[in-house]
Amino acid sequence: MTQAQMYARVLAGDASYNGRFFTGVLTTGIYCLPACRARKPKLANVRFFPTCEAARAAGLRACKKCHPDDFARGADPVLETVETLVAEVRQAPASFTDARALVRRSGFGTTRVFELFRQHYHTTPAYLLLRARLDHAKHQLLTSDAPLAHLAADAGFESLSAFHDNFRRLNGLTPAAYRDLRQGTGFSLALPDGYLLPYLRRALSRDMHSVNERLAGSHYTSALRLSSGPALLHLELSPAKVDVVVSPSAGALASLLPEVHALVVGLLGLDEDAAAFARLARKLGLARLVAGRPELRISRTPSVYDGLLWSIIGQQINFPFACLLKRRLIERTGTPVAEGLIAPPTPAAVATLEPADLLPLQYSRQKADYVIATSRLIASGKLALDSLAAMSATRAERTLLAIRGLGPWSVNYLMMRALGFPDCVPLGDTGVTSGLKSLLKLEERPDIDATRRLMAMFSPYRSLATTHLWQFNHPPPS
Ligand SMILES: [Zn+2]
Repeated sequence: MTQAQMYARVLAGDASYNGRFFTGVLTTGIYCLPACRARKPKLANVRFFPTCEAARAAGLRACKKCHPDDFARGADPVLETVETLVAEVRQAPASFTDARALVRRSGFGTTRVFELFRQHYHTTPAYLLLRARLDHAKHQLLTSDAPLAHLAADAGFESLSAFHDNFRRLNGLTPAAYRDLRQGTGFSLALPDGYLLPYLRRALSRDMHSVNERLAGSHYTSALRLSSGPALLHLELSPAKVDVVVSPSAGALASLLPEVHALVVGLLGLDEDAAAFARLARKLGLARLVAGRPELRISRTPSVYDGLLWSIIGQQINFPFACLLKRRLIERTGTPVAEGLIAPPTPAAVATLEPADLLPLQYSRQKADYVIATSRLIASGKLALDSLAAMSATRAERTLLAIRGLGPWSVNYLMMRALGFPDCVPLGDTGVTSGLKSLLKLEERPDIDATRRLMAMFSPYRSLATTHLWQFNHPPPS
């Protein structure tokens, strides 16, 4: 890299260059990571170093804001402190009476904690605590017969009605109905007022080559893979509710319903805060971004592996061709379930392929390599996809960026579409840049640095902002 290129990364605060070089500031005598948030030095006062050692040898000291030495040896003490705190909250949410208790426990100041939670968990301390209480209660509902009032208190809710209301809003059913998932063959989820069924229908039917899902009228059928094996999922879509029935090809149905519930909540985007994003857009004077669709949500992929395959297959090619490549992979390695539908493959099934198997299916050599190599990482246990959603967003992003074949676009796409992180931007996405160009009446489409700067105003809801920008230049569904 040239001096000018490195300096441009420093001005952009580009964290993806952290560790690739270090910025020495001769006037202050310190050295920093490229993404340091201290005031930007003038180019004339800067000298770049390949390592911390080289910077120290030149007589410079490590910056106390960005901790370049910690980064260089793979440690991130501030992140680790936040992760430890979040693990404590999730383990025993009732021991934190409210967000203030969480802030006190952290040892950081209030402003700093809010900043760290937004950066590393894409949320506020209060919302993370609420989600931890609900997850705690969900586990208890399935494993004990204790009265609801006890469970609510055990999870730290101040009242039964607060428990009930929050549970229903984010899960689409009541705590009692959730408990009933221990038996039966299906359940119903209530949709919030104004839920945009036409957008969901369009999302569920846009893959014109699909062999794993089908939308006919108001009935959606999908062949998918649950932890016990392949199954057929049926959804009956209506404006106020969705009826869900599942028929597994093997395994006990009752124990599968909580897993199916989580999957359908993601498919419908029920746990996303659409209203909060719409309020933010209006506050920014950008009501036109959400006009006619304030309730728009992100429909998440049935599994993280499905999302991963899609993010690799979809790179650099047009949408219809990506759908075709996906279809051929499923036909080659998936499992026929019923009604002519085929469940997507397991990582183990794809791991047995060689790139030469995918070339006749019109995969490029590189795409074939990436699809197979990633599947082998998962099949061998070196990449635990299902643990990513519980990680901090920062940790999940670093884990995924370390995988060959996954760049910033795919990683952020995967984090928003499959893992449900609310504050992601797939940088370089043409749908995002053309949406921004129209929304803000720009002369041309913003480049990556400009996109990053412009999208910052939508934090911590940049995933929903991305979804709205994807729709911005398109007519609404009929
Ligand atoms: Zn610094």
